Amino acid sequence: MSERTLVLVKPDGVSRGLVGEVISRIERKGLHLAALELRTVDRATAEQHYAEHDGKPFFGDLVEFITGGPLVALVVEGTRAIPAFRQLAGGTDPVEKATPGTIRGDFGLEVQFNLVHGSDSPESAEREIKLWFPNL
Ligand code: ADP
Ligand code: MG
Repeated sequence: MSERTLVLVKPDGVSRGLVGEVISRIERKGLHLAALELRTVDRATAEQHYAEHDGKPFFGDLVEFITGGPLVALVVEGTRAIPAFRQLAGGTDPVEKATPGTIRGDFGLEVQFNLVHGSDSPESAEREIKLWFPNL
């Protein structure tokens, strides 16, 4: 029962040199890379990616942050890839929710700068993979 999920190493993860760390954890979990690209994203793509948060108080800052420098977009594949990567990432708030041993719990301090994104459902994964990798 292989599935695919869209993962981002956000600009904070790239600038802090954590791309290899994130990919290493994905691979050691037993998941595989189906696509990988370093990219600086435009505002329209960022707003579509985070459309569910449009109107929330942090939306503007979130779009600024995501478009503010290069990020790494990946498609990750494997058994239960969607929940498995969410488990690796940890909860949204790196201190209040993510536990040590997770990417956010080990490396993050602030809710906005939480290093990674992972699709939260099969429907989100399909939508996000189409947005980031339309040719896949
Ligand atoms: P997740 O990335 O864990 O799925 P959400 O979908 O709720 O979390 O939020 C998307 C992103 O928006 C988060 O990863 C984080 O970068 C940012 N964010 C979420 N909540 C807040 C907040 N209260 N203040 C600032 N940024 C936030
Ligand atoms: Mg989310």
